[in-house]
Amino acid sequence: MGLTKDEVLKQAEAMNVKFIRLQFTDILGIVKNVAIPLHSLSSALDGKIMFDGSSIEGFVRIEESDMYLDPDPDTFAIFPWTPKEALTARLMCDIKNPDGTAFAGDPRTTLKRVIREAEEMGYQITVGPEPEFFLFQRDADGKATTHTVDQAGYFDLSPVDMGEEIRREIVLALEQMGIMIEATHHEVSPGQHEIDLHYDDALKTADNIVTFRFVARTIALQHNFHATFMPKPLQGVNGSGLHFHQALFHEGSNAFQDPKHPDGISKVGLRYIAGLIEHAKAFTAVTNPLVNSYKRLVPGFEAPVYIAWSMGNRSPMIRVPQSRGPATRIELRSPDPSGNPYLALAATIKAGLDGIRRKLDAPAPVTRNIYRMNDFERKEYGIQNLPEDLGEALDYFERDSVMREALGDHIFSRFLEAKRIEWEVYRQQVHDWEVDQYLTVY
Ligand code: GLU
Ligand code: MG
Ligand code: MG
Repeated sequence: MGLTKDEVLKQAEAMNVKFIRLQFTDILGIVKNVAIPLHSLSSALDGKIMFDGSSIEGFVRIEESDMYLDPDPDTFAIFPWTPKEALTARLMCDIKNPDGTAFAGDPRTTLKRVIREAEEMGYQITVGPEPEFFLFQRDADGKATTHTVDQAGYFDLSPVDMGEEIRREIVLALEQMGIMIEATHHEVSPGQHEIDLHYDDALKTADNIVTFRFVARTIALQHNFHATFMPKPLQGVNGSGLHFHQALFHEGSNAFQDPKHPDGISKVGLRYIAGLIEHAKAFTAVTNPLVNSYKRLVPGFEAPVYIAWSMGNRSPMIRVPQSRGPATRIELRSPDPSGNPYLALAATIKAGLDGIRRKLDAPAPVTRNIYRMNDFERKEYGIQNLPEDLGEALDYFERDSVMREALGDHIFSRFLEAKRIEWEVYRQQVHDWEVDQYLTVY
């Protein structure tokens, strides 16, 4: 199990670590860090390292800017690519107010609170994440492009191109940092890859996703490539998702399974699904937080558009994979890799728990490909659409009190404020498409 502070100190000394990066994320999920030399590690582990919270997105105002970093010893890991003479490790941190209380604007603390709520209801949550991403070339000035030389597709084993070599190195680096990989393959689009991380408890999974994104970018950069988690960088081909396989455990056994039920899914599982469906439009603002996220959620590219669930079919938002017994789980397919993983998990877990708490009934699973149904048929099945753009998602988010509870007032309002601005700025742009379509016709 987890390392203690003393063990971290001993390990860091024994390995001759020179620097430790204390990492955390802002509300948008961007990793921030402060580097300290080894001799400060002991006081850092005691939570004595301070930083200026006012310069971090969504944190605090100038007048109240002192914040403290509280490292989680269990997240100690060495960056395997750093040279021996500058060997660097990292610790993920919670954020504390000067009086030692938890800071309400800390996404990691927020997820911990939702996990605790689940525990109070008797449940442990495991999450297996499936991040997809693109590897693009950089131009002569080192700027990221959307070019790729790779023309491979799904599961292709082409003569190894640079992309595949980079993917392999990312996997090796992650494993050296203690993150286990479930599978990895080329995805459907040119230059697109997937690395499935092994499932773990929800907090560890969020930490792992943050680490994964940062490792992928670092390794790609070493090869003069750019790893992007932008949901839809190329028009006309699949975008990148971050599917979450979620399961609840009660007293050590899988709470989603019930061999007596014809589908093998328990009442708890069905209620969890019902909760996700109930809050889908609202949590989409968090799981798909960019203007660009909504360019992915369109028919025909293996990304969900409709709020429904199915057994095997990949067109709806939730799929229940075949495995039963301890591996029974739901796959939530709408999230994308641009979200803050702490908040995306807090919001979706809270939605599922709300379904259990309120004993909501799940609709019947859809068995047909929803992409091929017409509006009338979808109406008949009661299938609604996910929000079509960020503005619409924010409207649902703003009205959902369960989402407010999930994120807490501080993050809820700062997130809404930042995203409203993003949407307003976007709305004022005139795009090339509009000029091409209208300039000469009208
Ligand atoms: N790339 C697809 C998405 O946008 C998912 C493909 C898959 O099923 O892995 O979610
Ligand atoms: Mg995939
Ligand atoms: Mg998947």
